Amino acid sequence: MSSPAKYIFVTGGVASSLGKGIISASLAKLLQARGYSVTIQKFDPYINVDPGTLNPYEHGECYVTEDGAETDLDLGHYERFLNIPTSQANNVTTGAIYQTVINKERRGDYLGKTVQIIPHITDEIKRRIKLLGDTGRYEFVITEIGGTVGDIESLPYIEAIRQLRLELGSIDCLVIHLTLIPYLTAAGELKTKPTQHSVKMFLEQGVQPDILVCRTEHELGNDLKRKIGLFCNVNEESVIESRDASSIYDVPLLMDKEKLDQVVLKKLGMPFNNEPDLESWNKFLKGLKSPSHSVVIGIVGKYIELKDAYKSIAESFIHAGVENDCSVQLRWIHSEEVNENSIEASFEGLSGILVAPGFGERGIEGKILAIKFARENNIPFLGICLGMQCAVIEFARNVLGLKDAHSTEMLANTGSPVIHLQESQKKVTNKGGTMRLGAYPCEIQEGTLARKVYGKKAISERHRHRYEFNNAFLDEFRENGMIPSGINPDKGLVEIVEISTHPWFIGVQFHPEYKSTVDNPHPLFVGFVGAALNHSEVHALSTNSQSIG
Ligand code: GLN
Repeated sequence: MSSPAKYIFVTGGVASSLGKGIISASLAKLLQARGYSVTIQKFDPYINVDPGTLNPYEHGECYVTEDGAETDLDLGHYERFLNIPTSQANNVTTGAIYQTVINKERRGDYLGKTVQIIPHITDEIKRRIKLLGDTGRYEFVITEIGGTVGDIESLPYIEAIRQLRLELGSIDCLVIHLTLIPYLTAAGELKTKPTQHSVKMFLEQGVQPDILVCRTEHELGNDLKRKIGLFCNVNEESVIESRDASSIYDVPLLMDKEKLDQVVLKKLGMPFNNEPDLESWNKFLKGLKSPSHSVVIGIVGKYIELKDAYKSIAESFIHAGVENDCSVQLRWIHSEEVNENSIEASFEGLSGILVAPGFGERGIEGKILAIKFARENNIPFLGICLGMQCAVIEFARNVLGLKDAHSTEMLANTGSPVIHLQESQKKVTNKGGTMRLGAYPCEIQEGTLARKVYGKKAISERHRHRYEFNNAFLDEFRENGMIPSGINPDKGLVEIVEISTHPWFIGVQFHPEYKSTVDNPHPLFVGFVGAALNHSEVHALSTNSQSIG
């Protein structure tokens, strides 16, 4: 029986960081814009069962799905481009594959057989690849293989692709190989040899790529395309140029121009349907390229050396900026460097302050100081997860006068534990996959800023944390002006806090950044950027009138 879905594999060669995730998301976008149903999954060849336990310096942000999977940040791109949620099944690691196989072996499922990479590991890889296709919900399943062809770790995946091609045939399955065509300035030439070698290595492992997407800083031209095609056994039209773009959101259009989707459809025997409907995408891009206003927003975090650590937050600001006809310049502020002496200078000119999520003690006092600055100077503020918890601590220390207020994450025996471990976390000993994860409902109180921002009472947002607001202090906070405007209806947990006397001050225990997409910018980011814009205009007016006066 032939499989109901068509499978497209995206592999990488020559170098890492060529943007397989963006190419996969862009192709998916084009197919979706032609009316096809598409999903994308990512296979990561490392041994961690999921990236949840990885330090952001290792692997960038950990992205959380609706069903609570801690996943690779590429899944964020998939959701932002396609506007459809991903799930646990969309991100698989070598660790997860091995865990399943070893559990089966312990159960005795292999009936005395020797358990080996081929066929047992490769079978499990193939099963996971087909899992999404077998739901019958998708006409295309795009599978991105992390790493680079030639890595030891990638071998079982390449072998699984080789077997699948044999099983499914070339009409149901194809391979796109993303490579680099470096430019040698001294020679003034683009060089194709590394790509030839990469394809040769791929061939040694039994796979002939069908399409080559070539990352390049300069135009390839037909002669070079022909040459690459000739040496790598693909026809000229299957050599796709992928020039560096100023924004990742340009890439679907570049791929459209290069006819990547058309080549894919032709090879897989699928009708072209209509021209891709990219109207709303183009509208978004137009807004992105020519904003009427501009604001500077400070992001206070401790992983700022690596921008990927806050990928979804940065992208959410791009979506919210377009919605506000405004370009959002982000100023990255290291929380360890914020202190009484530096704060005036490093926060100068900010129209909004976001305090980022995080774990552990490092940089915590800088975050708290940043929040005090935003609160006292009426600067729009958004605190996410740890950022919200710090806002609670700051308010307790400086407004409620609880000088020893802290989170028990940082100071286990503090006298005023305004943030403490959730009841359900108290018996948890394993670190992996054990936080409060995924989507939870929240109800927003009428007459609050949060209600105005969301425009509705019932919302659902994604979580990733162990600690929470300590309800023993709730009355004291409420009486002094920090309002719990969003509450989890089942558990009574405080999910949103705000300060009613401040123009725009919101802390959220959840992560709104995971749900912002091009088609659906997140209301909290849209509201926050709007407030920042307002702040900058009022500020400009008052400094103007001061200088006139
Ligand atoms: N460290 C905090 C907790 O576990 C916040 C987590 C976060 O910011 N994602 O509750």
